[in-house]
Amino acid sequence: MYVSTAKSLHARWRTLPVGKVTLTGGFWREKQAINRRVSLRHGYRMLGQSGNLNNLRLAAGAGEGAYRGPVFMDSDVYKWLEAASLDLANDRDPELEALVDEVIALIAAAQQPDGYINSYYQVHKQPEERWTNLDHDHELYCAGHLFEAAVAHHRATGKRELLDVACHFAGCIDGVFGPGKHDGAPGHPEIELALVELYRETGEQRYLDLAVFFIDGRGKGRMRGYGRWGAAYHQDHVPVRQASEVVGHAVRQLYLTAGVADAYLETGEQALMDALERLWHDATARKMHLTGGYGARHEGEAFGHAYELPSDECYCETCAAIAAMMWNWRMLLATGDPRYADTLERSLYNGFLSGVSLDGQRYFYVNPLQSRGGIARPEWYGCACCPPNVMRQIALLGNYMATTDETGVQVHQYASATIEAAVGDAETARSLVVLQMETRYPWEGRVKITVAETGAEPWTLALRIPGWCKYASLWLNGDIIAGGASDGTYASLTRMWQPGDVVELDLALSPRLTAAHPRVDAIRGSLAIERGPLVYCLEEEDQQPGVDLLDVCLAPNAELEAVWQEDLLGGVVTVVADGQAADVGDWEEQLYRPASAPETDARPVKLIAVPYYAWANRTSGAMRVWIPTHSGLT
Ligand SMILES: [Zn+2]
Repeated sequence: MYVSTAKSLHARWRTLPVGKVTLTGGFWREKQAINRRVSLRHGYRMLGQSGNLNNLRLAAGAGEGAYRGPVFMDSDVYKWLEAASLDLANDRDPELEALVDEVIALIAAAQQPDGYINSYYQVHKQPEERWTNLDHDHELYCAGHLFEAAVAHHRATGKRELLDVACHFAGCIDGVFGPGKHDGAPGHPEIELALVELYRETGEQRYLDLAVFFIDGRGKGRMRGYGRWGAAYHQDHVPVRQASEVVGHAVRQLYLTAGVADAYLETGEQALMDALERLWHDATARKMHLTGGYGARHEGEAFGHAYELPSDECYCETCAAIAAMMWNWRMLLATGDPRYADTLERSLYNGFLSGVSLDGQRYFYVNPLQSRGGIARPEWYGCACCPPNVMRQIALLGNYMATTDETGVQVHQYASATIEAAVGDAETARSLVVLQMETRYPWEGRVKITVAETGAEPWTLALRIPGWCKYASLWLNGDIIAGGASDGTYASLTRMWQPGDVVELDLALSPRLTAAHPRVDAIRGSLAIERGPLVYCLEEEDQQPGVDLLDVCLAPNAELEAVWQEDLLGGVVTVVADGQAADVGDWEEQLYRPASAPETDARPVKLIAVPYYAWANRTSGAMRVWIPTHSGLT
C-alpha cells in the first residue's frame, strides 16, 4: 500500500519516505491513535480466534486442528502486519513490535524450502496442485499482500526478516511464471502493484517485469468468472490497454488499475495511462457513489451499469473504497492532476471511513447509502478482508498528505501534521524543509502552515484547493495575497522562505446541496447534503419524534445551518435543514392510487444531518443520504 516514487522515472511528484509525515493532532491523529490502541490489538486477537495464525502454524508443521476459513486467510495476516508495520513508523511501540516479530517468525517458519507460502495449499493440497486454480484460489493475491507487508516492515523498521521471506517467495513465483513458463494471471489482482513496490524497494528488475507480465496476461478470456459475469468478473474479457469500462468485481478491478498505474509510473508506457484515464472517467462519471464508494451490486460484489447507483442495495465494499484511493493516489503521483486528490478525499472521509466504527473495533464490509434499519457493524467477518485493510489505510494516512519534487512541496490533504521533505533534484543536493500544519479540518476550513526549517534556495509551496471549495483565500505572514472564486487547483507560493514564515489557507466550508445526474434513476428528484469533504446523512434517532425517514423530503429552498456538536459522535458538525414529513395516513394502506388524487399533506420539520462516516455508531436505526425534494412526494 505504501508507494515510494522517490526513484520512479514517470512520477510527477515524489512521495515522502515513511515516517516523514507525522500526524500531530486533530481528526486523523485521533483515528490513528484508536487504530493503534484498539484496532491493531483487536485485529491480532481476531486473527488468533478466527484461525488465520493457526493456519500458518499448521503450514509450519506445528499447531493443532484443521485449516479454517476461506482460501485467502493468509492475506488478512499480511494486511495486519502491513498495518502494524506502518504504525511502527508513526510510533515505535515495543509491545506492538513484539507482536509483529512473533507473526513474522511464524510466517518464516511456514515458508517452504523453495520459497512458497500459502497455508491453504500447504495444509490442504499437494505440491503439484499449486498454481492450478489461479482464477479463484488467491495464491498470487496472498503473495502480493505478503510483499506489501514486507516492504512496509522494511521501510518502517529497517529489519529484513520479512523482506527476505518475500523475496524468496517472489523468486519462487518468478521461477514458475513468465514468458516461456506458466502463462497464467491471477484471478484476483493485487500482486501486480505489490511486485512493483518490491521492485522499488529492492531494485530487482525481474519483479517489475513479472508485474507487467501479469498485467499483459489479462484479457484473454481464460478465466471462469462468477455466475453470469464470466471472464469480465476478473477483468479478463479485454486486454488492459483496450479497456474503457470498469466492470466485474469492484475490488479486483480497482486493485488492477492501481497496479497498472504503478507499472506506468515505472515504465511510462502511454497506452497504459490512456487506458487508466478512460477507466477513471467511467468509474467517476458513471459508477461512483457520492460517498466515493464503488460496486453497485451485491451479486459478484460488482460494478453495475452506468448510472446504476442504488442507495439501499448497493455494495460499496470498504476494500473497494480503499482500492480506489490507492488508484487515485498513483494517478495523482503520475500526473499532478488535483482531480485525483479530490476523488481520493471523497472516498477517504466517506465511503472508506464509514467502514470502521468510532471505537475502532467494529466494521462494515458493505456501505449502503440508505438503511431501513437493522444494520449494525460486526466486530469481524468470516471473510475479513476489510478490517485489516482499514487498519493499514489509517496507519498510512500521513503518506497521502504531501509530496515533493525539484521545485518544492505539495500539500494534498489537510490535517495537523509535521511534514519533512527533501526539496530539489532527486539525485543531487537537496534542502530539508520542515512544515508544521495546524487545522481543525474537516470541521473548519482554516489551515495554518508554519515553515519550521528551510534551505537557502527559493522553493514553491503548493496547496490543493479542493474541487468542492467555491471560495478560498491565502495569507502570508498575516497579509492576504490571494482570494476569490476557486477553480479546484493548487495555489502556489514561490519565495525565499524563512523559518517562522506562516501561510494560512482559508477554505469556505458552507453546507451545500448536491444533485445527481438525471440518469441515476434510483435517486432522481433527491438531493444530498455535503459540507467540505464530508457527505452527510439523516439518522432516524436525530429526527423529531414520529418522523419516519421514508416520509421526509427537503423543503423548497431549504436553508442549511452548520452546528458544532461537541458531545455527539465524538464531536461533529451537524447540518440542520428545513424539511417536511409527509402525512401518509390518507393513503389508507393503498400501495398505488390514481395520480389525480390530491397531493399528500406534509408538515414542516427540521432535519438533522450527521457525517455519513459516523452512521450506525449508536443504534441500528434507519439512515439515508439522498433526500427527496418536495416534488418527490406528490
Ligand atoms: Zn473487503
